[in-house]
Amino acid sequence: MTQSLTTVESRLRKQKPDSGQIPFGRTFTDHMFVMDYEESKGWHEPRIVPYEPLTLDPAAMIFHYGQTVFEGLKAYRTDDGRVLLFRPEKNFERLNLSSERLSIPPIDEEAVMDYLKKLIDLERDWVPEFEGTSLYIRPFIIATEPSLAVAPSKMYKFMIILSPVGPYFSGGIRPVTINVEEEFTRAVKGGTGMAKTAGNYSSGYQAQAKASKEGNADVLWLDGVEKRYIEEVGSMNIFFKIDGEIVTPALSGSILRGITRTSILELLKEWGWTVNERRISIEELYQYYEEGKLEEAFGAGTAAVISPVGEFNWLGKKMVVNNHEIGPVAQKLYDTVTGIQRGRKEDDHGWTVEI
Ligand SMILES: *Cc1c(COP(=O)(O)O)cnc(C)c1O
Repeated sequence: MTQSLTTVESRLRKQKPDSGQIPFGRTFTDHMFVMDYEESKGWHEPRIVPYEPLTLDPAAMIFHYGQTVFEGLKAYRTDDGRVLLFRPEKNFERLNLSSERLSIPPIDEEAVMDYLKKLIDLERDWVPEFEGTSLYIRPFIIATEPSLAVAPSKMYKFMIILSPVGPYFSGGIRPVTINVEEEFTRAVKGGTGMAKTAGNYSSGYQAQAKASKEGNADVLWLDGVEKRYIEEVGSMNIFFKIDGEIVTPALSGSILRGITRTSILELLKEWGWTVNERRISIEELYQYYEEGKLEEAFGAGTAAVISPVGEFNWLGKKMVVNNHEIGPVAQKLYDTVTGIQRGRKEDDHGWTVEI
C-alpha cells in the first residue's frame, strides 16, 4: 500500500554542472527521498526533502556490521526532452533480494517505484541532455538502530539520492586492459556476491589498486573456491564471443544478477545467437585464445552498458582480444541498449518507463 508521500521543497536551488564534463558521483540534486523502518510501524513516513547531511548515532549498526544494500540505475533524456528509466522495477526486485541476504526487511516495490517517479519528476531539470550523460539514481538502505549487538537492526533508513553523471567513456568506447586476479576474491558461493552490499566493493579495492599499478583498468574475478572459474569483470558481468557463440558465466550464487546482463541475453537470443550460460575457467579461455577462437570479450553493467576488453593479463601471459578493437557484437548491443534507453530505437520489449 502506498502511504501518502510528503514533499518539503528546497528553497535553495543549486547550480547544475556543465553537461559536457561532469565528474562521477560528486554532484547531488536539490532533493532526496527518505523513509524509515521500525519494527512496530514497518516502513513509514515516506518523504521527499531537501538534500542534506544525516544525523546518526555513532552506535548506528551500519557503522559496525555493515548491514546495508544499494542499487544503481539511471534516468535518460531523449532527443525530444522526455525522461526515461530502464527496467526500474528490476532494481527494486533486486534490492529486496539483496536485503533478504543481509536480513533487512523488504520494501513495497510498487510503492517505492511510485516515490521514485515523484522524486525524478521534481528533479526533472537535473537530467542532463548531452550525449552519453544521465541522472544516476542511488537507492540504498542502512541499519540505524544504536546498538553494538551482533544481530539484525530493528531500525533502518531507505533513501534515494540523485547525481548527474557524464559519459562512462569520454571520447567514445575504448577497449580496456584487465588483470586476471589470482590472489584476492570478490565473493564466494554462500557469501554475499549476489547482493549489492557495501563490503563486496571495498574488499575489491586492493586488487584494483594492484591491477592499476600495472596499467590495467580493472580486475577479472575468479571463483573464490577453486580460483579457476571466471565470475565478473570489475563490477560488471562478463561476456565472451568464442568460436561464433556467446558464453557468459552462469549465475552461481556469487555473481551479481545484472539487469544489463539479463537484457543483453534476451537480445542475443532474439538475434539468433547461441548463448551458453555456463562455467568457464581461465585455462579454458586461454586455450580458446591460443586456438584463435576468442573473438570478443566485454563487460556489461548500467554504468558503461558495454565495456569491451582489449587485453587480459594472466600470470604474465597476454590475451589480446580482437586487436584491441570493439567487436561487432559488443557494438550492436551497445547501440541497441543505449538506443532504447535514449528513445531513439523502438522499445519492443516495454523496457522503458517514462516519467
Ligand atoms: C551492479 C553490478 C553489476 C551490473 O548490474 P546492472 O544491473 O547491469 O547494472 C554487475 N556486477 C556487480 C558486482 C554489480 O555490483
